[in-house]
Amino acid sequence: MEDVIIIGGGVCGCSLLYELSRYKIKALLLEKENDVADGTSKANTAIVHAGYDPEAGSKMAHYNVEGNRLMEQLCADLDIMYKKIGSLVVGFDETDRKNIEKLYIQGNKNGVPGLRIVEGEELFRMEPALSRDIICALYAPSAGIIAPWEFAIAQAECAVAGGARVELSAEVTGIKKEGDFFIVSTVKGAFEARYVVNAAGVNSDSVNEMVEEKSFTIHPKRGEYCVLDTTEAKLVNLVVFPCPSALGKGVVVTPTVHGNILVGPDSTDCPRGSLENTAEGLDYVAKNALRCVPGVNLRASIRNFSGIRAHPDRDDFIVGESEHVAGFFNIAGVKSPGLTSSPSIARDVAGMLLDKGLDASPNPAFVAERSVVRFKHLSEENKQEAIRRNPLYGTIVCRCETVTEGEIVDALRRPLPPRSLDAVKRRCTTGMGRCQGGFCGPRVMALIAKYAGLSQTDIPLDKEGMYIITGRTKGKRTAL
Ligand SMILES: Cc1cc2nc3c(=O)[nH]c(=O)nc-3n(C[C@H](O)[C@H](O)[C@H](O)COP(=O)(O)OP(=O)(O)OC[C@H]3O[C@@H](n4cnc5c(N)ncnc54)[C@H](O)[C@@H]3O)c2cc1C
Repeated sequence: MEDVIIIGGGVCGCSLLYELSRYKIKALLLEKENDVADGTSKANTAIVHAGYDPEAGSKMAHYNVEGNRLMEQLCADLDIMYKKIGSLVVGFDETDRKNIEKLYIQGNKNGVPGLRIVEGEELFRMEPALSRDIICALYAPSAGIIAPWEFAIAQAECAVAGGARVELSAEVTGIKKEGDFFIVSTVKGAFEARYVVNAAGVNSDSVNEMVEEKSFTIHPKRGEYCVLDTTEAKLVNLVVFPCPSALGKGVVVTPTVHGNILVGPDSTDCPRGSLENTAEGLDYVAKNALRCVPGVNLRASIRNFSGIRAHPDRDDFIVGESEHVAGFFNIAGVKSPGLTSSPSIARDVAGMLLDKGLDASPNPAFVAERSVVRFKHLSEENKQEAIRRNPLYGTIVCRCETVTEGEIVDALRRPLPPRSLDAVKRRCTTGMGRCQGGFCGPRVMALIAKYAGLSQTDIPLDKEGMYIITGRTKGKRTAL
């Protein structure tokens, strides 16, 4: 019997698993996909929001500002790419100026540090790429950018190294309360736990309904993006937002920690799982990005993607124990700024579980930190030293992103080893560059097959069933 089962391996579930692994608590995370961070947590704007957007007094406001505060140290501990570059919310007219002033007041109430309204020469010195039609902006120096999927993966890796368990490809199909414990059924069999935490993202309402009457509804909203090549990296220094509207924070133009420029998202109601890109969505993104930053070069787009917001039927996160089923907790309706808020939500929910009487003594095996080699970021001297230590760092597999065989093998040997091309991409950045994996894909596939002892026909692009090769068409019929 587990102490805690977490349903869903997005950034919220993985942050909670990491947090629980500090204590002598038996925790198991069940994820329906073949990797963690394969839902909304891999497809968002990757911004660590400052916290002026959410209404003062809301859970969102508290978790956002606290999550932002925790992020720098956590990213240092977990060796996550993170840059505190600051953000601007720009205004074109006096109506926007009034909204910016409201955000400034709200941000101060929420405890956001260093907020300032800037205009004129100072504004254009800070961000020369802005449209000259912009009259003022709210500057938030505590906003940042992060590798969101890596943040979730790193926490899951540390938790597993510290004794927690993760079951992948384990979709939860039912939950039954039996006395003072739960039986959680999955496609891989049943698991038992004293407490269950529902962190199933867009599916959190249906998972909640496995134990109680409908108490909230998720209305999925899709956001589409363009990723621009690293040739555009110098376009903007800061995260540039327009004034927010009823549709959300609006189309952002932002650098990424990987050196690209990200442009998006729009906001459209959609069915669950509807991750397509549409001409209308991308036109909307392009038009609105160009309004704030006229130099956005959409011809340098190397990839489109979309992510789905778990938009709840209220304007706040749903975090805490169910009112009807003792021992069942929700981390639900976690739309933006959920990525930023995740560490603070995790600490809070871990505290609620400890208050229930779980063993709060420290786990002697707790793994707080990890470090990874990112060959391309090493100095020339350290590159030579890395190759001397491990000659696999001397073989480049992904030419666009300069990723070495050594880094891929490192990832394949860490806890939660990747079993798909995209799982390696999320850990090592292979295939994130201009050729989008055209060159390195087969070599990455061969490495997964070698180190995992799998046939190449068993290795999908991403989720189960997304197979790339199904067998030989020519030559000797040997194992692939
Ligand atoms: C377009 C867009 C832009 C955003 N931009 C930002 C931003 O810049 N900054 C920010 O702070 N936030 C942002 N967010 C919000 C942020 O991405 C989310 O709040 C966060 O990723 C939610 O994490 P999660 O763990 O709750 O959900 P998810 O990442 O969706 O994880 C839920 C997991 O549960 C699994 N699951 C579902 N059903 C089951 C089941 N039955 N059994 C087992 N597993 C199951 C799923 O496979 C998934 O892995 C954005 C969101 C979107 C969509």
